[in-house]
Amino acid sequence: MALSVEPVAALSDNYIWLLKDAATGAVAICDPGEAGPAIAAVEANGGRLDLVLLTHHHGDHIAGAEELRAKYGAKLVGATADARRLPKLDISLAEGDKVALGGSEAVVIDTPGHTRGHIAFHFPTARVLLCGDTLFSLGCGRLLEGTAAEMFDSLRKLAALPGETLVCCGHEYTESNARFALTVEQNNTCLVARSAEVRVQRGAGRPTVPTTMADELAANPFLRAGSVARLAEIRTAKDNFR
Ligand code: ZN
Ligand code: FE
Repeated sequence: MALSVEPVAALSDNYIWLLKDAATGAVAICDPGEAGPAIAAVEANGGRLDLVLLTHHHGDHIAGAEELRAKYGAKLVGATADARRLPKLDISLAEGDKVALGGSEAVVIDTPGHTRGHIAFHFPTARVLLCGDTLFSLGCGRLLEGTAAEMFDSLRKLAALPGETLVCCGHEYTESNARFALTVEQNNTCLVARSAEVRVQRGAGRPTVPTTMADELAANPFLRAGSVARLAEIRTAKDNFR
């Protein structure tokens, strides 16, 4: 593949993503919630870091960014709309803007809902989506700053991407998401099969991500909610689910 993606475990359940453009060796890190694991991953990939991509302002996604810029001279990339709440950006972008990683290119998609200024990075040619805390495997982000209507629109935009798109999200929440999802769609055979797969993956200590958009469309009740009201209903139920 022209662009390789690797989840790097950080904090208690975060994923930092390392992306490497095969043709040029250019490397990006997405959402460094801490510097240490990101630096270890960069060093294991040749010690080069071109870009730090930030999906939103929460500390568990940005805390390592300044250290990475200082160590590697990487450029920090994030949303113009949320620039005040992000580390000082070298490249600030809005929906539809593009950023190059070597020979690969990402397009910004506005995805408010979890936070107001949340963005996703989509690499259309490589079929890779970095979606932060908007879309999780079998779940979606909490509505901390946005409305259910905003999250519905954000998820609809992501759902329209090609089915083979790799979904690279910000947390390893899949196992608890699966338990909740089964209370919503107990007869969904794709979800039942995916839940069993997730148990095996986590039992072996393996990441459950990236998944594909097609797999999420088949099994993720938040992506499958047909209306804002339905999304709001299951989001509230998940907030109260233990
Ligand atoms: Zn967050
Ligand atoms: Fe987070």
